[in-house]
Amino acid sequence: MEIQDAKYLISNADYAQCPAPDRAEYAFIGRSNVGKSSLINMLCNKRALAKTSSAPGKTQLINHFEVLSNAKRKWYLVDLPGYGYAKVSQSSRRRWEQMIENYIRKRENLTCLFVLVDSRHEPQKIDLSFIEQLGKWEVPFAVIFTKADKNKPGATRRHVTEFISQLKETWEEIPPFFVTSAETGEGRDLVLDYIDDLNKA
Ligand code: GDP
Repeated sequence: MEIQDAKYLISNADYAQCPAPDRAEYAFIGRSNVGKSSLINMLCNKRALAKTSSAPGKTQLINHFEVLSNAKRKWYLVDLPGYGYAKVSQSSRRRWEQMIENYIRKRENLTCLFVLVDSRHEPQKIDLSFIEQLGKWEVPFAVIFTKADKNKPGATRRHVTEFISQLKETWEEIPPFFVTSAETGEGRDLVLDYIDDLNKA
């Protein structure tokens, strides 16, 4: 699949205000600084697309983009506010949790939630716990390891293997996962084809 056009639509605090759930939707989430904006821009081939949603005031909102693929198929891409910000008050954290839980559990057209994990690090508890929660909620998800170009040879594979083996402690099946780099474009085709396959299903 190739993306023909992608444009920012709207930002909401409440899942119920999001665009009509009339097409497949793919959301992206991860720790702050994991490379989410860069990945979204890389996938859509647009330099500053996700900048709109990282603008002050929109970082804690559900940001919708409309994507048109070369097969004339339209889908929604959603940039979700990340977790793990250091300087966040208890009340904002609570608000984030409520908003994300509502969105993830109630958004009926959410086809896959991509959880981004920084491939430069050993498995982090915050990512593993978030994924564990998704299991309890029975949400379809896939893992995207980001920033692969930043690693020394072998490090990406080691971190990915460690992460997956930790997941295996609580999951019977290994979730789909991808290794990407916004810098080199690694993984782009695989992620887009995965979305395309789900769109066709
Ligand atoms: P976000 O906070 O998750 O949206 O993260 P950003 O996309 O803003 O990225 C955080 C930082 O990591 C920025 O300085 C990016 O340039 C850098 N970055 C993101 N993805 C990659 C990547 O794949 N390779 C490299 N080398 N740097 C990246």
